[in-house]
Amino acid sequence: MSTAIDAFDSLLAGRQRILLLSHVNPDGDAIGSQLGLKWLLEAQGRQVIAANQDGVPVLLRADQVAPGWQEVVHNPMKPKRRGNGYDLVIALDCSDLPRLGKAYSPALAATPLVNIDHHITNLHFGAVNIVDPAASSTAELVWRLADALGWPIGPQAAQCLLTGIVTDTRSFRVGHVTPGLLGVAQQLMEAGASLAAVNELVLERRDVDTICLWGHALAELRLEERIIWTAIPQTMRARCNSVEQSDSGLANFMVGAVEADVALILTERADGLVDVGMRAAPGFDVAQVALALGGGGHPRAAGCTLALPLEAASQQVLAALKAALAQQRHAEQRP
Ligand code: AMP
Ligand code: MN
Ligand code: MN
Repeated sequence: MSTAIDAFDSLLAGRQRILLLSHVNPDGDAIGSQLGLKWLLEAQGRQVIAANQDGVPVLLRADQVAPGWQEVVHNPMKPKRRGNGYDLVIALDCSDLPRLGKAYSPALAATPLVNIDHHITNLHFGAVNIVDPAASSTAELVWRLADALGWPIGPQAAQCLLTGIVTDTRSFRVGHVTPGLLGVAQQLMEAGASLAAVNELVLERRDVDTICLWGHALAELRLEERIIWTAIPQTMRARCNSVEQSDSGLANFMVGAVEADVALILTERADGLVDVGMRAAPGFDVAQVALALGGGGHPRAAGCTLALPLEAASQQVLAALKAALAQQRHAEQRP
């Protein structure tokens, strides 16, 4: 970690125009780590553009949780933004390069790239890789970077970083929350960040269309070999007027079922691809199944995207999960 941070420090020296990118269909950590780093680098005198293929999700469009959200652009290569080009690209919260989607233009291939991430499935695709799967969030890694380099953290950066930490840990409810992380959160709150704002405006909020969709998806719930799962076809989404978005809140809810070790949601997208979201109960791991299917994630929360019809995708993922779970239960039983 400290070697990677030193390498980042050297790479940053003399580089002025910096492009920050995060993953498609961004969550609170993608936007929070990206905007947090934007504030920090600007305070270090850099010119920074933050871009995301899909923009900022509705619940994060609030100054109380993601100050600077209005500045996230879709296409960083528009001439007025790109100017004479970028000196450095930084990918945040992405386990592989394709996960940046269209925000990463092939024209950036010659520009040095730094990869800051906490997914266990990270492919170390950067010239410098600040990757730690033990970190709660990418926002925590950005905090570590600022701390190691002695950068002051102002109230806006503090809020963005706290939003990343709180959304990725579901407000400090998961296994990798350490005393050290609580210390980081305390420092960010002392710098001006609000914990209540993230809980109230992001974690505990959703629109009626989403609640309607969850109702339909839950009505179709199935339980097979301790896998609790459901599928969301386009027709179901249309019935609720629900826009395409991550249903990670529903997956988190489902994995609480005492009869299940894994929760699975398959979502048919308008372009025909199928998004797969998986969650594991304590002691189980879905990251390797996601990686084997071309996706990635964490042991307890992972996903992938499949180019198959919904029914075929369901069968493929269920088969892979059943095999992986049988193996994990078997390994557990061995002395
Ligand atoms: P989600 O179920 O969408 O909240 O995603 C859970 C975790 O899996 C997150 O950490 C994502 O970064 C990761 N993930 C989800 N979908 C993909 C994908 N298509 N490719 C790589 N990682 C993914
Ligand atoms: Mn993320
Ligand atoms: Mn994350």
